[in-house]
Amino acid sequence: MPTTTALQAPTAGAPFEVAEVPVRDLRDDDVLIDVKYAGICHSDIHQVREEWGSAIFPMTPGHEIAGVVSAVGGGVTRYKVGDRVGVGCMVDSCRECEHCKDGQEQFCLKGAVMTYNGRGYDGEETKGGYSRRVAVAERFACSIPDGIGLDEAAPLLCAGITTWSPLKRWGVGSGSKVAVVGMGGLGHMGVKLAVALGAEVTVLSRTDAKADDSRRLGAVAHVATADSAVLEDFRGSFDMILNTVSADLDVAQYLDLLKPLGAFVNVGMPASAWTIPPGSVVGGSRVVAGSNIGGIPATQEMLDFCAANGIGATIETIDADQVDAAYERVVAGDVRYRFVIDTATIG
Ligand code: NAP
Ligand code: ZN
Ligand code: ZN
Repeated sequence: MPTTTALQAPTAGAPFEVAEVPVRDLRDDDVLIDVKYAGICHSDIHQVREEWGSAIFPMTPGHEIAGVVSAVGGGVTRYKVGDRVGVGCMVDSCRECEHCKDGQEQFCLKGAVMTYNGRGYDGEETKGGYSRRVAVAERFACSIPDGIGLDEAAPLLCAGITTWSPLKRWGVGSGSKVAVVGMGGLGHMGVKLAVALGAEVTVLSRTDAKADDSRRLGAVAHVATADSAVLEDFRGSFDMILNTVSADLDVAQYLDLLKPLGAFVNVGMPASAWTIPPGSVVGGSRVVAGSNIGGIPATQEMLDFCAANGIGATIETIDADQVDAAYERVVAGDVRYRFVIDTATIG
Protein backbone atom coordinates (compact mmCIF):
# COMPACT_ATOMS: atom_id res chain seq x y z
CA MET A 1 0.00 0.00 0.00
CA PRO A 2 1.30 3.53 -0.76
CA THR A 3 2.22 5.76 2.18
CA THR A 4 2.40 9.45 2.99
CA THR A 5 4.17 11.59 5.55
CA ALA A 6 2.00 12.52 8.50
CA LEU A 7 1.98 13.47 12.16
CA GLN A 8 0.93 10.79 14.56
CA ALA A 9 0.44 10.41 18.28
CA PRO A 10 1.97 6.99 19.12
CA THR A 11 -0.02 6.58 22.33
CA ALA A 12 -2.65 8.54 24.27
CA GLY A 13 -1.37 12.01 25.14
CA ALA A 14 2.15 11.40 23.78
CA PRO A 15 3.85 14.15 21.73
CA PHE A 16 3.39 14.01 17.97
CA GLU A 17 6.03 12.38 15.78
CA VAL A 18 6.52 12.34 12.02
CA ALA A 19 5.72 8.97 10.45
CA GLU A 20 4.94 7.27 7.17
CA VAL A 21 1.27 6.21 7.25
CA PRO A 22 -0.71 4.17 4.71
CA VAL A 23 -2.92 5.85 2.09
CA ARG A 24 -5.13 3.31 0.33
CA ASP A 25 -4.90 2.58 -3.38
CA LEU A 26 -7.52 4.74 -5.07
CA ARG A 27 -10.93 3.17 -5.34
CA ASP A 28 -13.13 3.84 -8.34
CA ASP A 29 -14.92 6.74 -6.62
CA ASP A 30 -11.93 8.09 -4.65
CA VAL A 31 -10.11 11.37 -4.97
CA LEU A 32 -6.52 11.68 -3.74
CA ILE A 33 -6.01 15.02 -2.04
CA ASP A 34 -2.77 16.90 -1.49
CA VAL A 35 -3.60 18.31 1.92
CA LYS A 36 -2.54 21.96 2.23
CA TYR A 37 -3.97 22.91 5.61
CA ALA A 38 -5.49 21.02 8.54
CA GLY A 39 -7.33 22.76 11.37
CA ILE A 40 -6.91 21.74 15.01
CA CYS A 41 -10.34 21.05 16.50
CA HIS A 42 -10.76 20.56 20.24
CA SER A 43 -12.25 17.16 19.35
CA ASP A 44 -8.75 16.18 18.14
CA ILE A 45 -7.43 16.92 21.63
CA HIS A 46 -10.27 15.03 23.36
CA GLN A 47 -9.47 11.97 21.22
CA VAL A 48 -5.66 12.10 21.33
CA ARG A 49 -5.93 12.35 25.11
CA GLU A 50 -8.59 9.61 25.29
CA GLU A 51 -11.02 11.94 27.03
CA TRP A 52 -13.87 10.22 25.16
CA GLY A 53 -12.74 6.72 26.05
CA SER A 54 -10.43 4.24 24.42
CA ALA A 55 -9.05 5.34 21.03
CA ILE A 56 -7.03 3.80 18.18
CA PHE A 57 -3.24 4.41 18.22
CA PRO A 58 -1.04 5.42 16.57
CA MET A 59 -3.47 8.23 15.65
CA THR A 60 -3.22 10.83 12.89
CA PRO A 61 -5.96 13.31 13.79
CA GLY A 62 -7.45 16.02 11.60
CA HIS A 63 -10.98 16.47 10.28
CA GLU A 64 -10.71 20.03 9.03
CA ILE A 65 -8.93 19.32 5.77
CA ALA A 66 -8.40 21.65 2.82
CA GLY A 67 -6.34 20.74 -0.21
CA VAL A 68 -6.13 20.13 -3.93
CA VAL A 69 -7.14 17.01 -5.87
CA SER A 70 -4.02 15.31 -7.24
CA ALA A 71 -5.53 12.12 -8.73
CA VAL A 72 -8.97 10.61 -9.28
CA GLY A 73 -10.38 7.09 -9.52
CA GLY A 74 -11.87 5.91 -12.81
CA GLY A 75 -15.49 6.50 -11.75
CA VAL A 76 -15.10 9.99 -10.27
CA THR A 77 -17.49 12.52 -11.82
CA ARG A 78 -17.57 15.52 -9.50
CA TYR A 79 -13.91 16.46 -9.27
CA LYS A 80 -10.83 16.64 -11.44
CA VAL A 81 -7.13 17.07 -10.75
CA GLY A 82 -6.46 20.62 -9.51
CA ASP A 83 -9.85 21.17 -7.84
CA ARG A 84 -9.88 22.76 -4.38
CA VAL A 85 -11.66 20.47 -1.95
CA GLY A 86 -12.31 19.98 1.75
CA VAL A 87 -12.99 16.97 3.95
CA GLY A 88 -14.66 17.12 7.34
CA CYS A 89 -15.49 14.60 10.05
CA MET A 90 -16.84 11.76 7.89
CA VAL A 91 -15.27 9.76 5.06
CA ASP A 92 -17.96 7.14 4.43
CA SER A 93 -21.45 5.99 5.34
CA CYS A 94 -23.77 3.25 4.08
CA ARG A 95 -25.18 5.65 1.43
CA GLU A 96 -28.45 3.66 1.40
CA CYS A 97 -30.32 4.26 4.65
CA GLU A 98 -33.00 6.94 5.00
CA HIS A 99 -30.57 9.40 6.58
CA CYS A 100 -27.84 8.91 3.96
CA LYS A 101 -30.44 9.35 1.20
CA ASP A 102 -31.52 12.54 2.96
CA GLY A 103 -27.94 13.89 3.00
CA GLN A 104 -27.70 13.50 6.78
CA GLU A 105 -24.82 11.04 6.73
CA GLN A 106 -23.95 11.85 10.34
CA PHE A 107 -27.06 9.87 11.34
CA CYS A 108 -26.28 6.85 9.13
CA LEU A 109 -27.94 3.75 10.56
CA LYS A 110 -24.83 1.66 9.86
CA GLY A 111 -22.68 4.30 11.57
CA ALA A 112 -20.76 6.86 9.51
CA VAL A 113 -17.02 6.20 9.17
CA MET A 114 -15.17 8.97 10.96
CA THR A 115 -12.18 10.61 9.27
CA TYR A 116 -9.71 9.35 11.89
CA ASN A 117 -9.78 7.23 15.03
CA GLY A 118 -12.28 5.08 13.19
CA ARG A 119 -12.43 2.06 10.92
CA GLY A 120 -13.75 1.83 7.40
CA TYR A 121 -16.31 -0.86 6.61
CA ASP A 122 -13.36 -2.95 5.40
CA GLY A 123 -11.84 -2.77 8.90
CA GLU A 124 -8.98 -0.45 7.92
CA GLU A 125 -8.07 2.23 10.46
CA THR A 126 -8.81 5.74 9.24
CA LYS A 127 -6.11 8.45 9.24
CA GLY A 128 -6.89 12.17 9.33
CA GLY A 129 -5.62 15.40 7.88
CA TYR A 130 -2.41 16.13 9.84
CA SER A 131 -0.88 14.59 6.76
CA ARG A 132 0.47 15.37 3.30
CA ARG A 133 -2.17 13.24 1.55
CA VAL A 134 -5.56 11.63 2.10
CA ALA A 135 -7.75 9.44 -0.14
CA VAL A 136 -11.50 9.84 0.21
CA ALA A 137 -14.68 8.93 -1.65
CA GLU A 138 -15.77 11.90 -3.75
CA ARG A 139 -19.17 11.93 -2.03
CA PHE A 140 -17.40 12.97 1.18
CA ALA A 141 -15.37 15.79 -0.37
CA CYS A 142 -16.80 19.29 -0.69
CA SER A 143 -15.85 21.93 -3.21
CA ILE A 144 -14.08 24.95 -1.70
CA PRO A 145 -15.22 28.04 -3.60
CA ASP A 146 -12.51 30.25 -5.10
CA GLY A 147 -13.40 33.16 -2.82
CA ILE A 148 -12.07 31.46 0.31
CA GLY A 149 -8.36 30.80 0.96
CA LEU A 150 -7.62 27.14 1.66
CA ASP A 151 -6.14 28.07 5.05
CA GLU A 152 -9.25 29.95 6.19
CA ALA A 153 -11.47 27.28 4.66
CA ALA A 154 -10.05 24.27 6.52
CA PRO A 155 -11.81 25.01 9.85
CA LEU A 156 -15.14 25.42 8.06
CA LEU A 157 -15.17 21.65 7.49
CA CYS A 158 -15.88 21.04 11.19
CA ALA A 159 -16.23 24.31 13.15
CA GLY A 160 -18.20 25.85 10.28
CA ILE A 161 -20.69 23.06 9.67
CA THR A 162 -21.08 22.25 13.38
CA THR A 163 -22.32 25.78 14.09
CA TRP A 164 -24.17 26.27 10.76
CA SER A 165 -26.26 23.15 11.24
CA PRO A 166 -27.97 24.16 14.53
CA LEU A 167 -28.36 27.79 13.43
CA LYS A 168 -30.33 26.55 10.41
CA ARG A 169 -32.16 23.82 12.33
CA TRP A 170 -33.48 26.38 14.85
CA GLY A 171 -34.40 28.93 12.20
CA VAL A 172 -31.94 31.67 13.10
CA GLY A 173 -32.31 34.70 10.86
CA SER A 174 -33.16 38.36 10.87
CA GLY A 175 -34.55 39.36 14.25
CA SER A 176 -33.27 36.29 16.12
CA LYS A 177 -31.47 36.90 19.39
CA VAL A 178 -28.64 34.42 19.76
CA ALA A 179 -26.05 33.92 22.50
CA VAL A 180 -22.85 32.01 21.78
CA VAL A 181 -21.17 30.54 24.87
CA GLY A 182 -17.39 30.11 24.51
CA MET A 183 -15.45 32.06 21.92
CA GLY A 184 -13.10 29.45 20.52
CA GLY A 185 -12.91 27.67 17.18
CA LEU A 186 -16.59 26.75 17.05
CA GLY A 187 -17.75 29.82 18.95
CA HIS A 188 -16.16 32.38 16.66
CA MET A 189 -17.66 30.62 13.62
CA GLY A 190 -21.04 30.58 15.39
CA VAL A 191 -20.77 34.35 15.82
CA LYS A 192 -19.76 34.99 12.20
CA LEU A 193 -22.46 32.75 10.73
CA ALA A 194 -25.26 33.95 13.02
CA VAL A 195 -24.37 37.60 12.30
CA ALA A 196 -24.35 36.88 8.54
CA LEU A 197 -27.77 35.21 8.88
CA GLY A 198 -29.07 38.46 10.35
CA ALA A 199 -29.19 37.61 14.05
CA GLU A 200 -28.38 39.89 16.97
CA VAL A 201 -25.54 38.04 18.65
CA THR A 202 -24.21 38.21 22.21
CA VAL A 203 -20.99 36.44 23.19
CA LEU A 204 -20.85 34.87 26.66
CA SER A 205 -17.14 34.35 27.37
CA ARG A 206 -15.29 33.83 30.63
CA THR A 207 -13.43 37.13 30.54
CA ASP A 208 -13.27 40.39 28.61
CA ALA A 209 -10.06 39.33 26.82
CA LYS A 210 -11.90 38.64 23.55
CA ALA A 211 -14.38 41.55 23.78
CA ASP A 212 -12.85 43.60 20.96
CA ASP A 213 -12.83 40.56 18.69
CA SER A 214 -16.48 39.78 19.45
CA ARG A 215 -17.49 43.27 18.34
CA ARG A 216 -15.24 43.07 15.29
CA LEU A 217 -17.03 39.87 14.28
CA GLY A 218 -20.36 41.69 14.56
CA ALA A 219 -21.65 40.75 18.01
CA VAL A 220 -23.70 43.46 19.72
CA ALA A 221 -22.37 42.54 23.17
CA HIS A 222 -19.60 40.56 24.85
CA VAL A 223 -20.34 39.48 28.42
CA ALA A 224 -17.67 38.23 30.84
CA THR A 225 -19.26 35.37 32.76
CA ALA A 226 -16.54 34.71 35.35
CA ASP A 227 -18.77 36.61 37.79
CA SER A 228 -21.94 34.66 37.05
CA ALA A 229 -24.12 37.33 38.76
CA VAL A 230 -23.89 39.25 35.49
CA LEU A 231 -26.08 36.61 33.83
CA GLU A 232 -29.06 37.92 35.86
CA ASP A 233 -29.22 40.90 33.50
CA PHE A 234 -29.94 38.60 30.56
CA ARG A 235 -32.82 36.53 31.93
CA GLY A 236 -35.37 35.73 29.21
CA SER A 237 -33.28 37.37 26.47
CA PHE A 238 -32.38 34.79 23.84
CA ASP A 239 -34.21 32.68 21.25
CA MET A 240 -31.24 30.36 21.06
CA ILE A 241 -28.10 29.76 23.08
CA LEU A 242 -25.33 27.89 21.26
CA ASN A 243 -23.01 26.27 23.79
CA THR A 244 -19.56 25.53 22.38
CA VAL A 245 -17.70 25.15 25.68
CA SER A 246 -15.26 22.23 25.76
CA ALA A 247 -15.24 21.95 29.58
CA ASP A 248 -17.77 21.56 32.39
CA LEU A 249 -20.37 24.32 32.52
CA ASP A 250 -23.24 25.01 34.91
CA VAL A 251 -25.83 24.64 32.17
CA ALA A 252 -28.80 25.33 34.46
CA GLN A 253 -27.60 28.92 34.91
CA TYR A 254 -27.85 29.49 31.19
CA LEU A 255 -31.35 28.06 30.69
CA ASP A 256 -32.87 31.04 32.52
CA LEU A 257 -31.46 33.30 29.82
CA LEU A 258 -33.76 31.78 27.18
CA LYS A 259 -37.03 33.34 26.13
CA PRO A 260 -40.10 31.10 26.46
CA LEU A 261 -39.83 28.27 23.89
CA GLY A 262 -36.15 29.14 23.39
CA ALA A 263 -33.54 26.46 22.76
CA PHE A 264 -30.21 25.80 24.47
CA VAL A 265 -28.30 23.89 21.82
CA ASN A 266 -25.18 22.09 22.94
CA VAL A 267 -22.30 21.23 20.66
CA GLY A 268 -19.55 21.09 23.32
CA MET A 269 -18.36 17.61 24.25
CA PRO A 270 -16.76 17.51 27.71
CA ALA A 271 -16.85 14.05 29.25
CA SER A 272 -18.92 14.77 32.36
CA ALA A 273 -22.70 14.86 32.86
CA TRP A 274 -24.98 17.85 33.49
CA THR A 275 -27.45 18.48 36.27
CA ILE A 276 -30.55 20.37 35.16
CA PRO A 277 -33.44 21.09 37.54
CA PRO A 278 -36.70 20.17 35.73
CA GLY A 279 -38.15 23.59 36.54
CA SER A 280 -35.54 25.33 34.43
CA VAL A 281 -36.95 23.77 31.26
CA VAL A 282 -40.60 23.42 32.32
CA GLY A 283 -40.77 27.13 33.09
CA GLY A 284 -40.98 28.82 29.69
CA SER A 285 -41.37 25.44 27.93
CA ARG A 286 -37.72 25.60 27.00
CA VAL A 287 -35.75 23.13 24.91
CA VAL A 288 -32.39 21.57 25.67
CA ALA A 289 -30.96 20.15 22.46
CA GLY A 290 -27.75 18.85 20.99
CA SER A 291 -26.31 18.97 17.51
CA ASN A 292 -23.83 16.70 15.77
CA ILE A 293 -21.73 18.15 12.90
CA GLY A 294 -23.89 18.19 9.72
CA GLY A 295 -24.43 16.33 6.47
CA ILE A 296 -22.40 16.70 3.29
CA PRO A 297 -25.01 18.74 1.32
CA ALA A 298 -25.33 21.16 4.26
CA THR A 299 -21.53 21.42 4.44
CA GLN A 300 -21.45 22.46 0.78
CA GLU A 301 -24.30 24.93 1.39
CA MET A 302 -22.34 26.44 4.31
CA LEU A 303 -19.16 26.74 2.21
CA ASP A 304 -21.10 28.50 -0.56
CA PHE A 305 -22.74 30.80 2.01
CA CYS A 306 -19.32 31.64 3.46
CA ALA A 307 -17.94 32.47 0.00
CA ALA A 308 -20.96 34.65 -0.80
CA ASN A 309 -20.59 36.50 2.49
CA GLY A 310 -16.81 36.84 2.60
CA ILE A 311 -16.49 34.52 5.60
CA GLY A 312 -13.50 32.37 6.47
CA ALA A 313 -12.23 31.21 9.83
CA THR A 314 -9.94 33.54 11.80
CA ILE A 315 -6.75 31.50 11.98
CA GLU A 316 -3.22 31.24 13.34
CA THR A 317 -1.13 29.20 10.91
CA ILE A 318 1.50 26.96 12.52
CA ASP A 319 4.21 24.52 11.49
CA ALA A 320 4.02 20.81 12.22
CA ASP A 321 6.53 21.06 15.09
CA GLN A 322 4.24 23.52 16.93
CA VAL A 323 1.22 21.22 17.25
CA ASP A 324 1.97 19.98 20.79
CA ALA A 325 2.31 23.56 22.04
CA ALA A 326 -0.82 24.58 20.14
CA TYR A 327 -2.82 21.87 21.95
CA GLU A 328 -1.82 23.42 25.30
CA ARG A 329 -2.92 26.84 24.08
CA VAL A 330 -6.29 25.54 22.85
CA VAL A 331 -6.98 23.91 26.22
CA ALA A 332 -6.07 27.21 27.91
CA GLY A 333 -8.62 29.03 25.71
CA ASP A 334 -5.70 30.91 24.15
CA VAL A 335 -6.31 30.57 20.40
CA ARG A 336 -7.43 33.36 18.05
CA TYR A 337 -9.47 31.46 16.89
CA ARG A 338 -8.32 28.31 15.13
CA PHE A 339 -4.85 26.83 14.69
CA VAL A 340 -4.26 25.61 11.17
CA ILE A 341 -1.28 23.38 10.34
CA ASP A 342 0.64 24.17 7.15
CA THR A 343 1.01 20.55 6.10
CA ALA A 344 3.99 21.35 3.83
CA THR A 345 6.00 21.52 7.08
CA ILE A 346 5.34 17.88 8.02
CA GLY A 347 8.53 15.85 7.65
P1 NAP B 1 -12.04 25.60 21.67
O1 NAP B 1 -11.49 26.31 20.48
O2 NAP B 1 -11.12 25.15 22.74
O3 NAP B 1 -13.17 26.56 22.28
C1 NAP B 1 -13.86 26.26 23.46
C2 NAP B 1 -14.13 27.56 24.21
O4 NAP B 1 -14.82 27.22 25.41
C3 NAP B 1 -12.90 28.31 24.66
O5 NAP B 1 -12.39 29.18 23.69
C4 NAP B 1 -13.41 29.07 25.86
O6 NAP B 1 -14.09 30.25 25.43
C5 NAP B 1 -14.46 28.14 26.41
N1 NAP B 1 -13.93 27.39 27.57
C6 NAP B 1 -12.83 26.62 27.62
N2 NAP B 1 -12.66 26.10 28.85
C7 NAP B 1 -13.68 26.56 29.59
C8 NAP B 1 -14.04 26.39 30.94
N3 NAP B 1 -13.32 25.64 31.79
N4 NAP B 1 -15.17 27.00 31.35
C9 NAP B 1 -15.89 27.76 30.53
N5 NAP B 1 -15.56 27.97 29.24
C10 NAP B 1 -14.47 27.38 28.78
O7 NAP B 1 -12.83 24.30 21.22
P2 NAP B 1 -13.67 24.01 19.88
O8 NAP B 1 -12.76 23.37 18.89
O9 NAP B 1 -14.44 25.21 19.53
O10 NAP B 1 -14.64 22.85 20.39
C11 NAP B 1 -15.57 23.10 21.43
C12 NAP B 1 -16.24 21.82 21.87
O11 NAP B 1 -17.10 21.37 20.83
C13 NAP B 1 -15.28 20.65 22.15
O12 NAP B 1 -15.75 19.95 23.28
C14 NAP B 1 -15.39 19.81 20.88
O13 NAP B 1 -15.09 18.45 21.10
C15 NAP B 1 -16.84 19.98 20.56
N6 NAP B 1 -17.20 19.73 19.15
C16 NAP B 1 -18.43 19.21 18.92
C17 NAP B 1 -18.86 18.98 17.63
C18 NAP B 1 -20.24 18.48 17.39
O14 NAP B 1 -20.53 17.96 16.32
N7 NAP B 1 -21.15 18.63 18.33
C19 NAP B 1 -18.01 19.28 16.55
C20 NAP B 1 -16.76 19.83 16.84
C21 NAP B 1 -16.36 20.06 18.14
P3 NAP B 1 -13.91 31.64 26.27
O15 NAP B 1 -12.43 31.89 26.37
O16 NAP B 1 -14.63 32.60 25.39
O17 NAP B 1 -14.57 31.45 27.57
ZN1 ZN C 1 -14.09 19.01 14.96
ZN1 ZN D 1 -26.58 5.26 6.00
